[in-house]
Amino acid sequence: MVFDIAEIGDEGLDIMFQVAKDQFEIDQEDCSLSKDVDVSGRLTRVGDDIYLKGKVTTELVLSCSRCLDPLTHSVDSKLKSHFVPPDPDSDATGEVELHASDIDTEVYEGDQIDLTQLVLDGILLAVPVISLCSDNCKGMCPQCGVKLSQGSCDCSSDAPTDPRLEVLKQLKNKLK
Ligand SMILES: [Zn+2]
Ligand SMILES: [Zn+2]
Repeated sequence: MVFDIAEIGDEGLDIMFQVAKDQFEIDQEDCSLSKDVDVSGRLTRVGDDIYLKGKVTTELVLSCSRCLDPLTHSVDSKLKSHFVPPDPDSDATGEVELHASDIDTEVYEGDQIDLTQLVLDGILLAVPVISLCSDNCKGMCPQCGVKLSQGSCDCSSDAPTDPRLEVLKQLKNKLK
């Protein structure tokens, strides 16, 4: 995902590539890639400034926020960035002063720009805070874990039971 700036001519450079999903470390139980990652877009150059406009598409497997069932989530995120060379006037700490309008600005080193982090961010930003297997997912019983869309249970819907009472109740249920 590294491009030589020299390759970007006056007319820009169209990019399109696919990255194997295991190149990204997105492999948690509740968030993993299920497809390879496609990136396409266009790099343009104005002086030493490089602009990227493109998109990243792939598919994630997430778990339902209510019932924890796996679900697939399509990712189709826009990529937009502005790369600038390191500022020779920046102070010794190497920190670059960013203005509010430069929020998407990244500094590149040498004669190459690396899109890895940008693509990774594009995928992770597409992960919704809450994902549901279906809009009317009923979730699961907080006491016994039964999936309420698949069946009901005998737990009372009262506020959390005292765990000690819960043990007694389970014993009682077994004796029934
Ligand atoms: Zn669900
Ligand atoms: Zn229950």
